[in-house]
Amino acid sequence: MTTLDTRAPATATPSPAIDPPRRLLMGPGPIDADPRVLRAMSASLVGQYDPVMTQYMAQTQELYRTVFRTTNDATLLVDGTSRAGIEAAIVSLVSPGDRVLVPVFGRFGHLLREIAERAGAEVHVIEREWGTVFPTSELVAALDEVRPHLLALVHGDTSTTVAQPLEEIGAVCRERGVLLYADVTASLGGNTFAMDGWGVDAATAGLQKCLAGPSGSSPVSLSDRAVEVVRRRSSVEAGLRVLTDDDPDAVDRIRSNYLDLGQILEYWGPRRLNHHTEATSMLYAAHECARLLAEEGMDAAVARHALHGSAMVAGLSGLGLRLFGDQAHRMNNVVGVEIPDGIDGEAARAALLRDFAIEIGTSFGPLHGRIWRVGVMGYNARRDTVLTTLAALEHVLRTAGVPVTAGAGVGAALERYADAA
Ligand SMILES: *Cc1c(COP(=O)(O)O)cnc(C)c1O
Repeated sequence: MTTLDTRAPATATPSPAIDPPRRLLMGPGPIDADPRVLRAMSASLVGQYDPVMTQYMAQTQELYRTVFRTTNDATLLVDGTSRAGIEAAIVSLVSPGDRVLVPVFGRFGHLLREIAERAGAEVHVIEREWGTVFPTSELVAALDEVRPHLLALVHGDTSTTVAQPLEEIGAVCRERGVLLYADVTASLGGNTFAMDGWGVDAATAGLQKCLAGPSGSSPVSLSDRAVEVVRRRSSVEAGLRVLTDDDPDAVDRIRSNYLDLGQILEYWGPRRLNHHTEATSMLYAAHECARLLAEEGMDAAVARHALHGSAMVAGLSGLGLRLFGDQAHRMNNVVGVEIPDGIDGEAARAALLRDFAIEIGTSFGPLHGRIWRVGVMGYNARRDTVLTTLAALEHVLRTAGVPVTAGAGVGAALERYADAA
């Protein structure tokens, strides 16, 4: 007979407590959370049907209507990182066999394509070189050719640092009866986004970019047209009856329980139907992220990202680095720069982290080893963080043998600030 040694775990050396070093996160996300958001997360828990919780949820919905610039009733949080929101939107809006058009201009376009394929869609992809965006005429031509049920695209793609203009495409989609979904994770809060004004039917985001929070909650908003599609396919409408294979509803039910936006809408709606248990501490975080943005004003938040982003651009140029990507469509909150010839980009990033506790971003796919990505977003879209990063980078570049003029980065950024004052 074998016996279980129950003493082993009790006598094992306990792990030390988590005590992370202080970092300045100047990459493409995550970034340092605003301390006010971290404080909100440490508040006491309440039960999921406590009237106080219901009130916080209603406030969160209202705050995100401001952030998304929408009057959509269906504005809520999906528990999970941004990808959970993306997947919830796509699996809830797309039935197997539906045509979905995905314009790809960076890494996250490939993600949308992959999720739509898994949802059983007939996916049509058009591609642009990384660092560029689609002219609207190209999107219109593809819409007319493919005649999709859904156009799914990324607004700002952090992998390439550029943002696809969306102002005009919503109206084009409406005329053709096409739903428009946009992943605004990277752009929201730091770049103008007008859900209703631009006619976007579904938008999803995350907290760890311009919203100044940790990852783990995905704000989502749906237009009435999108809600209609979701409700038709949600198992809430089908009730709890068991569907047989020859039942037409069975074929078209949303193929996820956790990410069924119809059920999540009922959980957030007046009926408060039980689905998951809302991630309370993340809701506190999401609430505070949106509250801070609403207090600042969305236009002011975008202007802040534009100012500090442009100071970072000036500083990096001052250090002699070449900017990457179509600058006319650069996002305010992340800058791509080419790694200078002859230096090891990863070694330089490691030195920046080791000696200055500053993190900047590497890059993916075709850009790997070619560019660094420097984020200026959320809580870190500030003058002191921009200047500190430039000063440290100057030192690291010089140590690596790159000829840089002393003070050239910080000086150029300060000039930019003086011009803006
Ligand atoms: C950063 C980013 C995400 C992040 O997704 P997570 O699930 O939160 O890691 C998604 N989409 C875009 C466009 C991004 O830039």
